[in-house]
Amino acid sequence: TRVPVITIDGPSGSGKGTVSRLLAEKLGWHLLDSGAIYRVLALAAIHHDFRPEEEEKLVTLASHLDVKFEAEEDKSLTHIILEGEDVTLTIRTESVGNMASKIAALPRVREALLRRQRGFKELPGLIADGRDMGTVVFTDAEAKVFLTASAEERAQRRFLQLKEKGFDANIDQLITEIKERDDRDTNRAVAPLKPAEDALYIDSSDKSIEEVVDSVMEFAHSKL
Ligand code: C5P
Repeated sequence: TRVPVITIDGPSGSGKGTVSRLLAEKLGWHLLDSGAIYRVLALAAIHHDFRPEEEEKLVTLASHLDVKFEAEEDKSLTHIILEGEDVTLTIRTESVGNMASKIAALPRVREALLRRQRGFKELPGLIADGRDMGTVVFTDAEAKVFLTASAEERAQRRFLQLKEKGFDANIDQLITEIKERDDRDTNRAVAPLKPAEDALYIDSSDKSIEEVVDSVMEFAHSKL
């Protein structure tokens, strides 16, 4: 039987994480947060004191990465376990995100993570969230979405998130960091961030999460 896949690609802060989780809940499908895999690998690399230039070591690390995703009963949160340790929160820092985007530029590291990501494709269906879900990992997905928002809007969202968690943040610095990361993800040679040819393009700058979820549901229904 064919397992349906909906891919949600886009830059960080576009809302794709939240949108993907809500879609997975609504449909009762599995969820792949591929960015989390790159982040876990980055954290493991930091633990080992590997630098982003040490491709050989990183490829070996990627092929043996002991990571588990354990969803809570109500699916509100997925715990991410690296070698038995809960790293759900640790992987969300800016430093881990930056290391992840450097490591993610290495072709052989991406190759080493392909099979693991494709393993998430199970019945009754999969929502795949990332940068290259529609263009590389699940090219035959039923419905592909590219979700974005202006750098300013994304920085603003990130700013509010950080403040909520009690962290200090500077909006101009956040905009600069977001643009740097976009640049790296968009201009890399392998699996750059770009919409798949057959993707539905959504700019969420002036849209609520609910509006985006509704648009994706409608699009997916027309495709499935
Ligand atoms: O989405 P998130 O911010 O968690 O991803 C962290 C980094 O991992 C991104 O900046 C990107 O470089 C990389 N990534 C990727 N391909 C994916 C998902 C994430 O290259 N499918």
